[in-house]
Amino acid sequence: PQSFIDDLVNRVDIVEVIDERVPLKKGGRDYTACCPFHEEKTPSFTVSPTKQFYYCFGCGAHGTAISFLMDYAHLEFVEAIEELARRAGVEIPREVSDFRPSDNTQSLYSVLEKAAAFFSRQLREHTAASRATDYLKARGMSGETAKHFGLGYAPPGWDSLSNHLSQGQQDQATLIQAGLLIDKDQGRAYDRFRDRVVFPIRNRRGQVIGFGARALGDENPKYLNSPETPVFHKGQELYGLYETRTANRNIECLFVVEGYMDVVSLYQAGVTNAVATLGTAATEDHMQRLFRTTPRVIFCFDGDPAGRRAAWRALENLLPVMKD
Ligand code: ZN
Repeated sequence: PQSFIDDLVNRVDIVEVIDERVPLKKGGRDYTACCPFHEEKTPSFTVSPTKQFYYCFGCGAHGTAISFLMDYAHLEFVEAIEELARRAGVEIPREVSDFRPSDNTQSLYSVLEKAAAFFSRQLREHTAASRATDYLKARGMSGETAKHFGLGYAPPGWDSLSNHLSQGQQDQATLIQAGLLIDKDQGRAYDRFRDRVVFPIRNRRGQVIGFGARALGDENPKYLNSPETPVFHKGQELYGLYETRTANRNIECLFVVEGYMDVVSLYQAGVTNAVATLGTAATEDHMQRLFRTTPRVIFCFDGDPAGRRAAWRALENLLPVMKD
């Protein structure tokens, strides 16, 4: 509700919210800094604690704590409200028409997070993990890169993950719904990802929502993704977007590449602003998400016929969302 939002903006201190991200200096009644929204050498960005408002005399950027979080931290409107509410320690009253994450959604996030931790540990500890580490090393990956992306290893066998995570029938149902197990027939489910390098896919807030997995031998398919689930929608998510945001303060442009390994390899080579679609053509939703993050998007696909087709489809989807 608007009344709640107004109250929230009054409760939080815009100076604190901004200072955490762009260190401010006190100057008279206001605070100043070099503007984070344009290049400058002398500060013309001011924050008023009394008006709870920021204004840049150089580029005209202005707004409240909410618009700052949206424009600087690239949060969506609702995410910005959630961030401020967390700070203020208040519950958000939801209007009836609003989407409310159910308890079930929370349990999906929870098992996905546990699965990511499990896979990551297996990469370091499992006796068969040398195949995965050999593969990553052959591609020049450092431990730091593996950690940044939370890379892991799904061990061989049909029930490594399910044994680790499931205590009862209800857990198993949640694991199936999260896309981690495949339901064979009632009561008999098995691990979806086996003997593969796994790439956790995170949403904008850093929550694990699914996995991509690459085979280590000749198994088919070479790349395997989580299926669509209540928390994972391929047509909306971009692999690497969260990681790009954590690695860069300003995202001047984004490279859109074909797959996880492209994103990870580029990061290893010092290009920390690449993202990939998840086995689908780039959609209009993807484009909107890209342009909310950066004004400049560069597609970089393979030169083979499949890559060229994907590039053309991306272009067709991109044109309707281009402005100016
Ligand atoms: Zn400015």
